[in-house]
Amino acid sequence: MRLHFDVALQLIEQSGHAPLPGEPGNDRWLQALIDALVDLSSRDPLTGLANRRSFELALSREIDRVARSGEPALLLTLDIDHFKRVNDTHGHAAGDQVIRAVARALAETVRPMDLVARTGGEEFAIVLPNCPAAFGPQVAERIRKRVARQPVEIAPGEQVNVTVSVGGAFAPQWVRTTARLWMDRTDLQLYRAKSEGRNRCCLEPTAVPLVSAEEKGLLFASSTFQDFT
Ligand code: GH3
Ligand code: MG
Ligand code: MG
Repeated sequence: MRLHFDVALQLIEQSGHAPLPGEPGNDRWLQALIDALVDLSSRDPLTGLANRRSFELALSREIDRVARSGEPALLLTLDIDHFKRVNDTHGHAAGDQVIRAVARALAETVRPMDLVARTGGEEFAIVLPNCPAAFGPQVAERIRKRVARQPVEIAPGEQVNVTVSVGGAFAPQWVRTTARLWMDRTDLQLYRAKSEGRNRCCLEPTAVPLVSAEEKGLLFASSTFQDFT
């Protein structure tokens, strides 16, 4: 069978990836090609952060871990405040620079084990495994403050200041939630942060989140206790 590598190689080259090691076609080269393609399909090209697809994968893995270990895990969603104004006043290219700068600030503020993703235009999400409930508000505030105090240079001598609103929720421990339900919870908090004035963090108030009817259903659906209820 004749294999076609041309487009894949072009895409890899275009992404700024270093030339693949080894001889074209040998095992080392093929493995490097696969790794480069996986990297390409899981990263957001503008910021280099995880894209929505790899974020959703990571979120599902984290849900499995929480359900197995009971370790607390926090999900934060962030949205740049009044971002349309940045685009309207300074142009789309400056907007892109702001998105890149915010992405860098987020990545620099979290631990190596945390995953930062760009989930939409000027929207981000961070999964923080093993984050005790008492630290949640501190972590979210640290991130918010870091963005707020760092002006972004959009042209020589021209700076803009932006802020983010942050919503957060812990995964319900010992219960297998779904990525959708967990994200809905954080989005609700993000919406609250926006409506309460922006440039603020809102975390789901309860340290041990209430288990929704749907999550209870999921718990019992995968349990042998089902027969006794
Ligand atoms: P809010 O505080 O309510 O979030 O106000 P906002 O102006 O930020 O509103 P919203 O979040 O709805 O705005 C998103 C804007 O982001 C709209 C769109 O033009 C812009 N946008 C989306 N993706 C990109 C991108 O990749 N680059 C640039 N420069 N702008 C983008
Ligand atoms: Mg938005
Ligand atoms: Mg916005």
